[in-house]
Amino acid sequence: ALPVLAIIGRPNVGKSTLVNRILGRREAVVEDKPGVTRDRVSYPAEWAGRDFTLVDTGGWEADVLGIDARVAEQAELAIQLADAILFVVDATVGATATDEQVVRLIRKSKKPVVLCANKVDSQRQELEASELWGLGLGEPYPVSALHGRGTGDLLEAAMKIL
Ligand code: GDP
Ligand code: MG
Repeated sequence: ALPVLAIIGRPNVGKSTLVNRILGRREAVVEDKPGVTRDRVSYPAEWAGRDFTLVDTGGWEADVLGIDARVAEQAELAIQLADAILFVVDATVGATATDEQVVRLIRKSKKPVVLCANKVDSQRQELEASELWGLGLGEPYPVSALHGRGTGDLLEAAMKIL
C-alpha cells in the first residue's frame, strides 16, 4: 500500500485548498464556511516522482460536542491512519487553543509531522508564520495554498518524512 499523508487542522485554515494545490486540480471542496468536506477523503497523489495517498479531513460541524471536540476527534482518526502528518495552521490567526490541542495529539502519536503556516500570501506575513515555531513542531513552512507560494518547500519537507 502507498504511504499515507494526512492533512489535519482546524476548519477554514485552507486544508482543502492545499489538497487541490498538491493534486494540481480542483477536487477537494473549498468553502468559505467550514463543515463542507466529508469526514475524510483520500486522493491518489504524486509529488517529485513519489506516489502516495493524500487524506483531506473535515466534516466538522459543531454538534452537541462542540467544534473543538469534533476537530480533535477527526484529527485523532486521521493521525491513526497516517504515516506522516501535514498540520495546517492559519498564520494570519496564529495558534489557537484548538491548534494546541491537536499538537498534543500529534505528539502523543509520535508520528512525523510537517508544519504548514498557511495564508502567508506575501513576504511581509512571514513574521506571523515564524511565530508558529512556538508550537514546538519545528520549522513552520510559510505557504499560500491559494497562490502556490512556498508549496514546493513544504512538499519537499513532507516527502522527507513520508
Ligand atoms: P479547510 O476548511 O481547512 O479545508 O479550508 P478551505 O481550503 O476550504 O479554505 C477556507 C477558506 O480559506 C477559503 O475561503 C479559501 O479560499 C481560503 N484560503 C485557503 N488558503 C488560503 C491562502 O493561502 N490564502 C488566503 N488568503 N486564503 C486562503
Ligand atoms: Mg476542507
